Amino acid sequence: MRVLLLSDIHSNLEALTAVLAAAPAYDTVWNLGDVVGYGANPNEVINRVRELGDTFVRGNHDRACSGLSDVSDFNPIAGRAARWTRAVLTEEHTIWLRNLAAGPIMPDGPAVSCVHGSPLDEDQYLLTVRDAWKPLCQIETRINFFGHTHVQGGFATNGEEWFRLTPQYSSRDHVDSYELQLRDGGRYMLNPGSVGQPRDGDWRAAFAIYDDQARTVTYYRVPYDVRLAQMRILSAGLPDRLAIRLRDGR
Ligand code: ZN
Repeated sequence: MRVLLLSDIHSNLEALTAVLAAAPAYDTVWNLGDVVGYGANPNEVINRVRELGDTFVRGNHDRACSGLSDVSDFNPIAGRAARWTRAVLTEEHTIWLRNLAAGPIMPDGPAVSCVHGSPLDEDQYLLTVRDAWKPLCQIETRINFFGHTHVQGGFATNGEEWFRLTPQYSSRDHVDSYELQLRDGGRYMLNPGSVGQPRDGDWRAAFAIYDDQARTVTYYRVPYDVRLAQMRILSAGLPDRLAIRLRDGR
């Protein structure tokens, strides 16, 4: 089975369209949350991802934008974007967002889990090996996919050593891929990166393909029409910063 892993699309229709056009063949799609928030096309993005399947975990922006949680712990820019999203979402999409599952979910049995933040706390950011240490020690599942940080890569341990995994790419302006071979005794927290608002210094849309037969996770970066996404953010009246940061990948 080949799984297309998507996370943190954040209402960026241009990035999602480019990812789906570039993705090699896959059997199913697992979505790690934050479908909406920040970008200008929440309804269009929800329509598109719902066509791709029904394996989703909810993100903190999915909760805030559907009124399940308030925006008091969001920074002012994220809060403005969440309120704007609430106002433009159709009722059907609001209800759909409210019904997304809290992670972890196990779409393929006990070997693999999907979460937004951490298997121990859906809102936790796993940014360092130190952050990943506790979940990797405490949970049974060996392969865990997460999002939330908007940083592609992840963390691994063989029980003795601990590793940060960072895909290595040769360019910054083409479609690029990086294959990770999963090892038998390894335990993994793996982040496909953010489709719609990368924060790892690479502006290209991020995703990954998990192949359970080959035991690989292949990370991808794809250029997209970032100027159109920026224009849509500005003409929607969303904060300028949300447009600027897309080209910086920050
Ligand atoms: Zn996010």
